[in-house]
Amino acid sequence: MNDKKTAAAASKVMPVGDDSDLHHIIIVGGGAGGLELATRLGDKLGKKGKAKISLVERARTHIWKPLLHEIAAGSMDVGRHELAYQAQGYWHGFQFRYGEMTGIDRKKKLVFLAATFDEDGREITPVRSFKYDTLVIAIGCVGNAFDTPGVKEHAIMLDTPEEAERFNRRLINACVRAFAQEGPVRAGQLHVAIIGAGATGTELAAELHRTARGLVAYGLDKINPENDIKITLIEAADRIVPALPERISDGVADVLRGLNVDIKTSSRVVEVTGNGVKLQNGDFIPSELVVWAAGVKGPDVLAHLDGLEVSRDGRLVVTETLQTTRDPNIFAFGDCAYLLPKGADVPVPPRAQAAHQEASHLYTELQRRLKDEPLEPFRYRDFGSLVSLGEYSTVGSLMGFVIGKSFFIEGLFARLMYRSLYKMHEMALHGPFKVMADTLSRMITRRTEPVVKLH
Ligand SMILES: Cc1cc2nc3c(=O)[nH]c(=O)nc-3n(C[C@H](O)[C@H](O)[C@H](O)COP(=O)(O)OP(=O)(O)OC[C@H]3O[C@@H](n4cnc5c(N)ncnc54)[C@H](O)[C@@H]3O)c2cc1C
Repeated sequence: MNDKKTAAAASKVMPVGDDSDLHHIIIVGGGAGGLELATRLGDKLGKKGKAKISLVERARTHIWKPLLHEIAAGSMDVGRHELAYQAQGYWHGFQFRYGEMTGIDRKKKLVFLAATFDEDGREITPVRSFKYDTLVIAIGCVGNAFDTPGVKEHAIMLDTPEEAERFNRRLINACVRAFAQEGPVRAGQLHVAIIGAGATGTELAAELHRTARGLVAYGLDKINPENDIKITLIEAADRIVPALPERISDGVADVLRGLNVDIKTSSRVVEVTGNGVKLQNGDFIPSELVVWAAGVKGPDVLAHLDGLEVSRDGRLVVTETLQTTRDPNIFAFGDCAYLLPKGADVPVPPRAQAAHQEASHLYTELQRRLKDEPLEPFRYRDFGSLVSLGEYSTVGSLMGFVIGKSFFIEGLFARLMYRSLYKMHEMALHGPFKVMADTLSRMITRRTEPVVKLH
């Protein structure tokens, strides 16, 4: 629905949520950062009746976004990792408000939500508005196609679990089709082009290599994985994972080349078509499936939030206290926030570790705000970067705070460090006992289920 129409319609609807004198904190976006904040504030303030905490989210269940490449490749059982917002709210003292934020009214302190519908088009929730005292926006980022022709129509972006699952269905269908058809597998029929060799693209390439072979091993034996399944990784910069130190790029490239992934650096994509990818140098890469993972930007709705300042890449500009520059009652953090720390020349990166640190910071600072105490600035600590190449390797750098610089790590230790980021997220949502029980139960069921998704 058109943003302005929804906001206008919502402004006529009686706002919900102003039925008590309690300070109302609304968090919009229940992702890596938002759900941690809602859970912790709900436990601390909501349950004790010290403030009212609400979470507005357009999905009904939460999946930690860095797992999306595993969903796309089919190596992860979504059901074992997803969490229903309604239940989390019930357990942790916050109210879940289902719906997509379409606008705000800063003067009236209202946030507008679009109506939601089921698959038959029947309305589930109407257009609504909620009144806030403090608004926290954490709606993440979306893929940036940079106006490249054909991306919207023919490429998949791994922005949501639905898109990751759509990619996985298309992958399985392509393999089943190739297996059932008369005649040999055609050139390009089982080729995947991944555009953008940042962490997402490279991690997906490695994961796909493993699961595509897994699919074939379950009986699609007409397909020869070595000859028929091909993965091409395309990057405009002169090396893969260009945002990370060169040693990591080299390490990741070595592993991927060993897996026969075709790496094309210094290659700019000018168009995506129904059967492949055109490069600026005139080359055409035939591909059945194309993934666009070449950069992110702020979701469009941020540019229509009643005059809040946005950066060139469409994110909300915030001060060091994570308050938006034009409204101290509105905070933003995570991927959707643009924070340039004092003295730095690059903003805080759009990463789960930044969203996690900011959620912890706001958990403390929003309690100070309730007591009218001055807010402390947020300081980002870069703990390093890790690229997980599935079961093949994990490569990255860790920041050694004692020695004051980062050092290179790989192998089992790197893999454990990579997993620890997800464990920290789970700990913030569930606490140690449930995390231990879940980890154990996943380890057991992994041994009795197919290693790749087959449907
Ligand atoms: C495949 C992949 C791998 C990654 N790997 C890593 C990694 O290894 N390490 C790392 O640090 N980072 C990684 N990242 C980046 C990381 O996922 C993000 O930085 C992190 O999820 C940002 O958290 P967030 O809370 O800001 O946003 P998100 O986690 O994206 O959550 C945003 C939430 O807002 C909801 N939402 C969006 N729009 C609206 C709206 N209008 N109204 C209501 N709700 C809305 C969404 O449904 C979502 O639940 C990876 C990302 C991807 C895609």
